Amino acid sequence: MKKIGLLRESQHSNIAVLIPQNIKQLKNDAEFFIETNAGLASGYTDEDYIDAGASIINSKQELINSSDLIMSYSSVIGNENINAAKTFIGAYDVLSDYCTVIPFQQKGIDVYSLNLLPRTTIAQSMDTLSSVASILGYKAVLIASTISPFTVPMITGAGGTLRPAKILILGAGVAGLQAIATAKRLGAIVKAFDVRKASKTDVESLGAEFIDIEGAIDSSIAGGYAVEQDKAYLEKVDQILFDETVNADIIIATAKIPGKKAPLLISEAAVKAMKPDSVIVDLAADTGGNCALTQPGKTIVTENRITIVGDTRMLDKIAKSASFLLANNFASFLKHYLANNDDDEILNATKVITDGKVTNPRLIAEIDNL
Ligand code: NAD
Repeated sequence: MKKIGLLRESQHSNIAVLIPQNIKQLKNDAEFFIETNAGLASGYTDEDYIDAGASIINSKQELINSSDLIMSYSSVIGNENINAAKTFIGAYDVLSDYCTVIPFQQKGIDVYSLNLLPRTTIAQSMDTLSSVASILGYKAVLIASTISPFTVPMITGAGGTLRPAKILILGAGVAGLQAIATAKRLGAIVKAFDVRKASKTDVESLGAEFIDIEGAIDSSIAGGYAVEQDKAYLEKVDQILFDETVNADIIIATAKIPGKKAPLLISEAAVKAMKPDSVIVDLAADTGGNCALTQPGKTIVTENRITIVGDTRMLDKIAKSASFLLANNFASFLKHYLANNDDDEILNATKVITDGKVTNPRLIAEIDNL
């Protein structure tokens, strides 16, 4: 039986990618080792893991040496001594930041990243990117609403009527749609924009208004993902989004292009023209940001009192729900891994490093383009 190790997360410290219920389901297929307190911040004690059938190990070094397959969300290898062939499974953002996996490559460790899953029916239950995006789309609206000094719904009281907040959502993929749904539930007037025409129906079905801008390059050439757009279209978008930005009380920016820098949708001039005390939450901060003034990892307040949240650790603030979803994704991948050999669509697509070499075609193409 394969020995599976769960590392205590070093980057997103509150996330655990296996929870006791996964171990109960898989304990006849593998043996499980948990680094002590790996699940504590997600609501699971070492005793919960022991009750589910796992063993607790005290150090990272010992955990790695005791396991064949090591699971973590985004932890990297450090000075640990590797005593035999090892495989790491994580959700490494290799297309945006190849450097994260270089230490594994140098130590001859095989790596799989769930961020590279193909968008197929079988892979749906493993889709970590969707899990994270929907959780963050929700949380971003709550964070913005809390920072904003205005109420979101229309409220009529003895003192008069407070108008509903105007919330603009940029990018209507998984995160954007969850943000729209949350903003609508709070009672906001919601508008959304996406380059993918297909998202218009999704936006409208949630009761928001779609900002329709003609002339985008069709995204169907990239399997439904957004593609980079031409200059003429982007200039048109700039003009229209400038007006929409200035009008909004809250902006949730979620626009991304897989493996590329995020598109710039809110210029410095637009931020300067916004109404004081408006809030921007930029969920694309980890890939450069949709707003020109976003500082990844920081929340800033501009001279004209616009708050711009560039939090890249937001997932840790909603760790229990995030861990629940991510652990089910990782368990589903693990089950698939244990039942299949290497000649499998999902395993081939997610394998990043094999025997010290980059073997992933998408990553090889990215590196060639550097
Ligand atoms: P993403 O996180 O890569 O991007 C977020 C959104 O930003 C996308 O909707 C994209 O179109 C948009 N965007 C990119 N450039 C833009 C620009 N210049 N202006 C405005 N918006 C821009 O994408 P995602 O949220 O993961 O979803 C992309 C698509 O994949 C959607 O159709 C989604 O439904 C689909 N999807 C499929 C599966 C599956 O089949 N298993 C799972 C998840 C998502």
